Amino acid sequence: MANLTSPIKHQIYLSLPEDIYTPLAPRRVEAPAMLALNHDLLDEYGLNSDWFESAEGIHALAGNSDYPDANPIAMAYAGHQFGYYSPLLGDGRAHMLGQIQKPDGKYVDVQLKGSGRTPYSRGGDGRATVGAVIREYLISEAMAGLGIPTTRTLAILATGESVMREYQMVPGGIQVRTASSHIRVGSFQYAYAKLGEHGVKALADHLIEHHFQNLTARDDKYPALLEAIAVRQANLIAQWMLVGFIHGVMNTDNMSLVGETIDFGPCAFMDEFKAGKVFSSIDRDGRYAWDQQANIGYWNLSRFAETLLPLFDADSDKAVALAEEKLGTYISTFQIAFHHGLMQKLGIMATNKDADDLVNQTLPLLESEKIDFTQFFDTLTRVAQGDNETELLALFTHQQNGEAWLANWKSVRDENEETVAAMQKANPALIARNHQVEKAIEDAMERNDFSLFHRLAEALKTPFTVSAENRDLQTPPATEERVLRTFCGT
Ligand code: AMP
Ligand code: MG
Repeated sequence: MANLTSPIKHQIYLSLPEDIYTPLAPRRVEAPAMLALNHDLLDEYGLNSDWFESAEGIHALAGNSDYPDANPIAMAYAGHQFGYYSPLLGDGRAHMLGQIQKPDGKYVDVQLKGSGRTPYSRGGDGRATVGAVIREYLISEAMAGLGIPTTRTLAILATGESVMREYQMVPGGIQVRTASSHIRVGSFQYAYAKLGEHGVKALADHLIEHHFQNLTARDDKYPALLEAIAVRQANLIAQWMLVGFIHGVMNTDNMSLVGETIDFGPCAFMDEFKAGKVFSSIDRDGRYAWDQQANIGYWNLSRFAETLLPLFDADSDKAVALAEEKLGTYISTFQIAFHHGLMQKLGIMATNKDADDLVNQTLPLLESEKIDFTQFFDTLTRVAQGDNETELLALFTHQQNGEAWLANWKSVRDENEETVAAMQKANPALIARNHQVEKAIEDAMERNDFSLFHRLAEALKTPFTVSAENRDLQTPPATEERVLRTFCGT
């Protein structure tokens, strides 16, 4: 029998202090249409698609959320944007419908993005474009395919209305985003400024109750929370960097405290390796460049730690010392995760000390030889499996540099089944290439053609194996196809 009731029955944020959110319904839209529904994700949540495909479900996901148990809210948060503090940001174009409860008992937030104005919209129109929601669908699902913790996209819809962007009317869209939590560093900054210790404690207790249950009984649960969050964040940023991902807007309001990638704006996977690579058109100083991300993660966590100090110790010197100690764990965790990850990509065991020089030389060499990051490690994986070396050598601008590197690699690599299997898991054959993502958006927006979007969405679920008909999606952009700057496109 069809199940036609909404599974979004909970609203766990209502137990937080009222200043942290505003109860508020999304804006109604007259003619919504489902563009894509993520059936695999529904399966993960133990749900069938009946309600999501029903007229009531589509209306609810488009913002007409007058179903029983609906309790939509918009959340307040503050944040440092490019280093400058804004005391009030908040969900300016998003509404949290509530939570689904998964078979394991955990809650998943269901949030609409592009669902209208809120008290936090400032000058914005509260909308999103079909292009922006396609982008977030593809990149978030690519992340999930790579096994990297991330918010997900359950569905995308067209609102049937137009939105003004850069002096043009473009189709409006809504993203149905799911996440383990939407609590951000900026949520704590807001609670600290507005409510002081009481607000911060409420948020910290909420995180411990829902996401860090193992800390519940500890005497030092707040410092332990900082450490646990720092560890997740360090691992997350190392994982991004190891697949060439650049988040693009790592403002404190765009950093989740449960260690999931969130708020994909002008983000991208890089093609040719460049340590200082920046895509975002608004990141003029390279604050969020590929190689700055670990430092920025630390900077953001330091802003988070500042809000926790009153919970650490009444003596502020002791509280600061404790925070510094816990933040220290971030640095060591990142260094180990990144270094070991790179060794894994190269087929070298973590215990192999003879390979240090090779490991340290590889990325600078990729940069000077202008080699595609993904293609290099994918091709190397195939060499490790016994393929011939011609294709790998062809990636180098200077053949002799390639030959020298390869000879060095062969002399220090650990050649065994285990390292080869590890390489396969660490080196995706397919990433969401920026030029393909942009093309999928252009096809959809200008020609109402969603075929490339659907093809990419399917292929990116399994990025470590590529079927014969998807080989073209692996190809780096030709010079004229390169996307040099990615715009917010909100
Ligand atoms: P972002 O950096 O994209 O995560 O957004 C930063 C802030 O701007 C958040 O508070 C968003 O809710 C808000 N914002 C972005 N775009 C819009 C929009 N079109 N309308 C209203 N608020 C927006
Ligand atoms: Mg944001």
